[in-house]
Amino acid sequence: MFESSLRYTNFHDKHPILTQTDYYDSLIVRAHLLAYARNAVPDLLYQLADEEAVEYYIDPMVSDFRVGENFTNSDGSLKAWHAKYVSHLGDPLERLLKNDGNVDASEISNRHLRQIAKDVVKFQQNFVEGAVLEGRGKYEEVDVNGLKPKAVIPWHHRMAQSEDISVNREIIDASQEIADIPLKPCLYVTKEFIRDRTRRRLLIELLDDNNIDQTFIWVEDLHKQRTSQRQYERVIDLIAEMREAGVSTHFYYGDYFSNLLAYFGLQGTAHGSNYGEERQEQLENVGGGNLTRYYLNPVKEFLKAEAAADVMQTAQEPMCTCDYCSRHFSSWNDLSYLAATDDDDAESLFPILQKHFIAMKRSHAEKVRNNSLDDCLDDLKDDFSNYSSPFNASDQVSPKKDLDHLMRWKSAIESKKSQAVQQVSKIRL
Ligand SMILES: [Zn+2]
Repeated sequence: MFESSLRYTNFHDKHPILTQTDYYDSLIVRAHLLAYARNAVPDLLYQLADEEAVEYYIDPMVSDFRVGENFTNSDGSLKAWHAKYVSHLGDPLERLLKNDGNVDASEISNRHLRQIAKDVVKFQQNFVEGAVLEGRGKYEEVDVNGLKPKAVIPWHHRMAQSEDISVNREIIDASQEIADIPLKPCLYVTKEFIRDRTRRRLLIELLDDNNIDQTFIWVEDLHKQRTSQRQYERVIDLIAEMREAGVSTHFYYGDYFSNLLAYFGLQGTAHGSNYGEERQEQLENVGGGNLTRYYLNPVKEFLKAEAAADVMQTAQEPMCTCDYCSRHFSSWNDLSYLAATDDDDAESLFPILQKHFIAMKRSHAEKVRNNSLDDCLDDLKDDFSNYSSPFNASDQVSPKKDLDHLMRWKSAIESKKSQAVQQVSKIRL
């Protein structure tokens, strides 16, 4: 089954996670959220596991500390959430961060690297169980069986050159020494890195040498407006070669294109509750805040709600029929009206946008489960021709945006079609 994973990144995600369990298969929880809300978040995972059989992974996050300063306050101290997590992992990570500001796995001693790798595994294996026992266990009998993560995700080091592979090799080796549940490493690669077949081969060897047959894949900045057809083709090669080698692959961040990779053997993808379809290392301190962008499904793109409504009205398309849009809006006008009203109302728009997005992502996973590859490619072409002119004509849509990504996806897939199956159910690993 194609696994769709929802990222649990901040407290705004709680409501959709609780109420939309039919719309995702597993969660990827950012480690610092657990450490910061050590009662509430583990308890939520316990409740979901107990009542809905929801499984989860923990995003180890340590790679966030490699470069930049987006995890620190202006005085250089760690932001509260990160500080809690780092203090759980303890030394050497805590001390190295304090002294150096960053921790780059390729620049620290082997002893430190292996210790941090092990601390990450221990956190993932024990934290949720421990927190639930500590919180609930005082008052009631709790059964924490089945509350371990689905797999451990070891610390991952960004791979931009071949030498970076050996850093990950060391981390995986140390992680394996103490892991008592299976590892599912995340291969975090740049688009440039996977250009070359030899390097892609080294990634497979890295897993194979450690007897690992499952992996997350994070291709840095696989943004639909910034990725060329050739770059998409190499991603397809990577997935097809992994499948050939018997490795089960799961995108760490994925947009609609990642669903189409299911026809080449990809076994799952992941996304946030709104956005979170791609990611790159962040260098600067960026503010949070909820952007109220609507995910316009036919064009697989986020737009200002007013712009989305404008495009769809020009195209004379009816309102989205998902459970959430249909409950709140009878027309596209209702959506732009709510978006244009004052901040308090815009606040109430955000949860609808989140739930609509999650519903769309579910429909993408279902689409590849139930349709042929050719049908999906035809739909891309139809959507491109039906929406290009209303999209380009709308003065609400940023002039920097276009719909060319739909055709880049289609062309990339067509050029690699000999490696694809028509029905996802035909994939054999
Ligand atoms: Zn909707």
